[in-house]
Amino acid sequence: MLITPDPKPLPDTDCPEPEAGAKTMLAQRVTLLLDRLGRLTRELQFADGLNPAQWEVLRFLAQANRYSRTPSALADYLGSTKGTVSQTLIALENKGLIDRVKKTCDRRGVELHLTCDGKAMLAKDPMRTLERAIDDMASDCGGMLVRGLSKLLYELQNRHAVMQFGVCQDCSLFCVKGAEIAAAKHQCGKTGEALSDMESGQLCVKYQGVTADGAD
Ligand code: SF4
Repeated sequence: MLITPDPKPLPDTDCPEPEAGAKTMLAQRVTLLLDRLGRLTRELQFADGLNPAQWEVLRFLAQANRYSRTPSALADYLGSTKGTVSQTLIALENKGLIDRVKKTCDRRGVELHLTCDGKAMLAKDPMRTLERAIDDMASDCGGMLVRGLSKLLYELQNRHAVMQFGVCQDCSLFCVKGAEIAAAKHQCGKTGEALSDMESGQLCVKYQGVTADGAD
């Protein structure tokens, strides 16, 4: 049951820089809106027999790169304990949506993968409702939203010493190789390994950001 009252939409005007009191009010309204959106999206994710944490794992595995599809990276991403994540993984395995594969380079290491059923389930992701709503307004304020929310996330992650998980191509260690150098166009400055175009758009546990403004 959603109990927070709906905030009224702000008037659609070009506002001058707000005064201190107005800034506080603005901050309170944004906080309320984010809280409302958080509650709403959480409720949406009790769907198709899954809960929000299980949907988040499926989403993460679809977006994470080769360094990040592990139980410990997943625990860092979700801000959960390894025990809680382990329970979620067991539930998803029992439903046949993910599987664990032993890493060839590390006998004790495990890599997580979406199964075919997991990919099919993800196609029904209830968060697509939100995506479609954003899509409808993206041409008006999509860029501004991404910049503002990225900056807010960065500030909060820094204040609370939460690990950053960024997209590879925004990482300060991401290198674009010249056309004359080999087939792979990109390289990870941390591991020295080649990265494909697809990997340059994936989430990484080793990500190192520069500034909040660098994220777009
Ligand atoms: S460049 Fe950064 S984000 Fe990309 S794989 Fe390397 S450490 Fe991860």
